[in-house]
Amino acid sequence: SKPLSASDPEIAAAIDNEVHRQHEGLEMIASENFVSQAVLEAAGSVFTNKYAEGYPGRRYYGGCEFADVVENLARDRAKQLFGAEHANVQPHSGSQANAAAYMAVLQPGDTILGLDLAHGGHLTHGHKLNFSGKLYRVASYTVRKDTEQIDYDELESIAEREKPKLIIGGGSAYPRIFDFPRMREIADKVGALLLVDMAHFAGLVAGGAHPSPVPHAHIVTTTTHKTLRGPRSGLILAQQQFAASIDKSVFPGQQGGPLVHIMAAKAVAFKEALEPDFKQYAQQIVANARVLATELAARGHHIISGGTDTHLMLVDVFSKGILGSEAEHALGEAGITVNKNAIPYDVNPPLKPSGIRIGTPALTTRGMKEAEMILIADWIDEALAKRNDSQALSHIRGQVLELANRFPLYGWLREPQTV
Ligand code: PLP
Repeated sequence: SKPLSASDPEIAAAIDNEVHRQHEGLEMIASENFVSQAVLEAAGSVFTNKYAEGYPGRRYYGGCEFADVVENLARDRAKQLFGAEHANVQPHSGSQANAAAYMAVLQPGDTILGLDLAHGGHLTHGHKLNFSGKLYRVASYTVRKDTEQIDYDELESIAEREKPKLIIGGGSAYPRIFDFPRMREIADKVGALLLVDMAHFAGLVAGGAHPSPVPHAHIVTTTTHKTLRGPRSGLILAQQQFAASIDKSVFPGQQGGPLVHIMAAKAVAFKEALEPDFKQYAQQIVANARVLATELAARGHHIISGGTDTHLMLVDVFSKGILGSEAEHALGEAGITVNKNAIPYDVNPPLKPSGIRIGTPALTTRGMKEAEMILIADWIDEALAKRNDSQALSHIRGQVLELANRFPLYGWLREPQTV
């Protein structure tokens, strides 16, 4: 059998180009990160060949003895890392983790109450085009217009009025800490369960840089590829009372065979997150985000909610007359990757929204600290101001490349291959 470069040069070239793209730019998409060589190796392993429907010790296929080792280690490490009673490491993604978790505790037509997508929630928290909006009756809470933060008194009165079966905390573009104890109080008061989707901030929780939802929520779901720095995948944590129904709704409810290679990569990532240096990593992500938000604000940019407690911030670029789509494009030209994002009470449409979302997890993995964030704030500010000046943007791109070269990424992948 031939190496990839010989058997499929087109795909090999795309991978090679992607290695260079990831190295040469500044990755500031809040939901992205760079996994370790060990995680990459596990994800690219021969476990991709294996069927393992069922759970360890109860499989529907033979030859699962090593798959069992992998899944048991992944489950045990996830439980240890987050102090959870039960873990299911089979969901293929964050969306599938949510689908399975909802299915475990809800009937179609039941009401869910989540943060509105336009205010920082996620598609799977009740968007009308998503399974969650089609299968369940949806009520939403929002952020206040003045503080741009969640108003828990308002959340309480919506919960009292709508009588949800499930209240959902967490989101994709909310820069503040959710008040888990208060949310649990509200859930108890109205007879709802509390699910926290910690996809964005799971790595901060693992590293002790953010409060944990696990003691408060009945069920916690997450992706494993954002701040947690594992492979693209999902995870469900739950109190023991929900263990059997969650396992049943992941398999056979939502999925067939688990991706054993990805479970292996998750196990490796959880081991890494249990190491003491992951605590420093998580703290540095937050420190970097704070500095970046402060520096952007000092340059006259409106940061939604006035700052950040986490790894991400939302910048209202429209307050300077720039659309999020224009900002994303200009920053892209300057070698800085971010995504356009709606801001609360956005007056512009979703494809041309008023904001951009910026995050620090990936650059922090590369070793960047506060000093680099100050440089980057300058470049972002300049690129936005000079968004129609291609020479200025390519000048910034040159400076970005110099910085990137000081913090090499996957050097072992970029070295010339010697056979
Ligand atoms: N939940 C939240 C809060 C997210 O931000 C995301 C992804 O952006 C997901 C769930 C879905 O994850 P996936 O893309 O793995 O389906």
